[in-house]
Amino acid sequence: MLRAVLLRLSEQRAIGRLLERLRLTRRLVRRFVAGTRAEDAFAVIERVNAEGLLAAITYLGENVRGAATARAAAETYVELLDEVKRRNLACLPSLKLTQLGLDLSESLCLENLKRILEQASAAGTRVWIDMESTAYTERTLAIYERLRSRFPNVACVIQAYLRRSEADVKRLIALGATVRLCKGAYREPPDLAFADKRQVDASYARLQDLLLSPDAIERGVYPAFATHDERLIQRAANRARQLGIAPDRFEIQMLDGIRHDLHAQIRGQGLRLRVLVSYGEAWYGFFVRRLAERPANLLFLFKHLFRP
Ligand SMILES: Cc1cc2nc3c(=O)[nH]c(=O)nc-3n(C[C@H](O)[C@H](O)[C@H](O)COP(=O)(O)OP(=O)(O)OC[C@H]3O[C@@H](n4cnc5c(N)ncnc54)[C@H](O)[C@@H]3O)c2cc1C
Repeated sequence: MLRAVLLRLSEQRAIGRLLERLRLTRRLVRRFVAGTRAEDAFAVIERVNAEGLLAAITYLGENVRGAATARAAAETYVELLDEVKRRNLACLPSLKLTQLGLDLSESLCLENLKRILEQASAAGTRVWIDMESTAYTERTLAIYERLRSRFPNVACVIQAYLRRSEADVKRLIALGATVRLCKGAYREPPDLAFADKRQVDASYARLQDLLLSPDAIERGVYPAFATHDERLIQRAANRARQLGIAPDRFEIQMLDGIRHDLHAQIRGQGLRLRVLVSYGEAWYGFFVRRLAERPANLLFLFKHLFRP
């Protein structure tokens, strides 16, 4: 119930614009967002890399309404790739198609995405395309499929809460795709997504088994298990060990600010762990989705709000 209310709030751009102006809220957001400038994100990424972890960087933004904003976002990612190279960081971009203009036109979005992929290709870097709400699922996968042969460095995301995901995972395994598996962070109707957490977790486990199978790995699939769910992370580690899948054939991904206590344990097992670091002014939707994932985070918010 609270999750649904928060997810509805995350879609209210007017509230976002208001909150973005308040200095106080900005402070609260820092747990999940490195800051407003790329420099803030790079400071965190350097620390993450120094701890022996891989990183991903997201310049926050979604559902942009002007072509110039979409082009500027693409330009920012090109500059980030340059900076990653200059600083010699183990870091890749993770971006949203609606930030590159998918709501405006598919050709604009493709033009922007190709620019980033070309730059990343030259640097030998992968680019992860995030998955947004179901309004974009099919279009996002179609764009991924279309670009894969020209850009083998492109990667996509599957959300375990969607009823369609098992079919999508099978479709991606046949392609030998690079796939992040997450639970899913948007407000979706029950005919499209499992509403019950146990069903979502069970779906995640099923899809994890498909992606981490000898058949999938032989086809070249590279799965990334994006979750802070200790049980599912351990499940992936155990399964890979049992099947003799080498630890460099898959990775675990987590968001900066969540379950840092698990990092050492995951690395200690010789697993690859990537931490996604976000920055930018447009943090509202991302932040409220983090609150919705764990309503206990609201306590953290209130504690800060009422602190003298
Ligand atoms: C690297 C990465 C990339 C992602 N990309 C996408 C994407 O492209 N599309 C998409 O829809 N979703 C994406 N997500 C979000 C994802 O779908 C989930 O909403 C999110 O990861 C929470 O689910 P969980 O797997 O951690 O499991 P949960 O069962 O929600 O959480 C497991 C445990 O993790 C901790 N935890 C989880 N969330 C929080 C939080 N917000 N604050 C504090 N503790 C928390 C708690 O201890 C909780 O018990 C991504 C997540 C990660 C880690």
